[in-house]
Amino acid sequence: MLATELFSRRSETKRNDFYTIATLGSHSALQILKGAHDEGFNTLAIASRETERLYRSFAFVDEVIIIDRYSDFMLLVPELEQRKVVIVPHGSFVAYLSLDDHRRMNVPYFGNKAVLEWEASRELQRQWLTRAGLTLPRQFTTGAEIDRPVIVKLYGAQGGKGYLFLRNAQDFEMRAGELARQNYILQEYIIGVPAYIHYFYSPLTGKLEIMSMDRRYETNVDSLGRIPAAAQENMNIEPSYVVVGNSPLVLRESMLAEAYRMGEDVIRVSQEICGPKGLFGAFCIETIITSEAKFYIMEISARIVAGTNPFIDGSPYSYLNYSEPMSTGRRIAREIKNALLSNNLDAVLDDSYVA
Ligand code: AMP
Ligand code: AMP
Repeated sequence: MLATELFSRRSETKRNDFYTIATLGSHSALQILKGAHDEGFNTLAIASRETERLYRSFAFVDEVIIIDRYSDFMLLVPELEQRKVVIVPHGSFVAYLSLDDHRRMNVPYFGNKAVLEWEASRELQRQWLTRAGLTLPRQFTTGAEIDRPVIVKLYGAQGGKGYLFLRNAQDFEMRAGELARQNYILQEYIIGVPAYIHYFYSPLTGKLEIMSMDRRYETNVDSLGRIPAAAQENMNIEPSYVVVGNSPLVLRESMLAEAYRMGEDVIRVSQEICGPKGLFGAFCIETIITSEAKFYIMEISARIVAGTNPFIDGSPYSYLNYSEPMSTGRRIAREIKNALLSNNLDAVLDDSYVA
């Protein structure tokens, strides 16, 4: 049956022989599965015992499979390989599965796995972003070089947990003992406001869209301003950067052109370094904007980020493009649908998949 017929018939009933969009029950799964449902797909949440009831409570989740731990996802792969499933990866996939796990799963996978290596290595990521003309915070290789405030980023730290703020080289000296056994980078601390810009690049049309933006709510750094500096003096509070949620943001419009350019350049360079498909689908550039309105880039996330969650009903930017509720999750499902309708599903899947 033609994909067009499948989509038109589906408005009435769900069809078992049609594609299912599957993801791990965490991070941005609700948004992804709601978007998939709204675009006419079957939906599957792979959840843990603790999260199962939550995912079952939503009518747009057609099926829930339970695993003990998210890292057990690979045990399910043989079953998924037998089904018509497209996996939409999000932050929990990179947090709980290894690069090797990603490579080993022969399941249709939305996105280009080659990008993972460039993203996972801080050095490669730096090369990629610098080549795209983006400005990155300075990096120091030894404590002695530190001549300004720095943030110490431990390797493998998730969601800003375990980051340290150091004012100067003396601070570093005092912490040198505890840092000696760890792998970390020393990055210039940029004073400004964090802004996370969410993009979608369509491999089908070659068009880049700004989908939305967020700012993160991080504990405890976002509450330190609530305690007067004088009162903090003897309290020995260490700032930490553990994300607990996100709130919407719109950018001053005169800064939008630069945000768009950064997205375009990141895509262009990705096509030079990660094979011709490069980076496609959803991605996020994590920035800090200084008082000179300059964007410093902390990181890139090469897939949907949880900062898109405030926009399940669409954002001001996605409204400009669609005039209907268009979350990033739904945009992904629409791309998969458009690919199916033009008989070109491969264009939106990682190339390693063999049917
Ligand atoms: P989780 O499944 O919640 O442990 O998240 C997996 C990864 O995504 C972790 O690295 C988290 O730090 C990151 N993450 C989860 N939720 C958010 C959020 N709301 N904003 C930013 N990052 C997040
Ligand atoms: P990341 O793990 O890179 O997303 O960083 C987590 C949080 O640490 C960010 O949301 C910022 O609040 C903070 N952060 C990271 N890098 C820097 C930096 N170079 N300057 C200032 N704050 C930073």
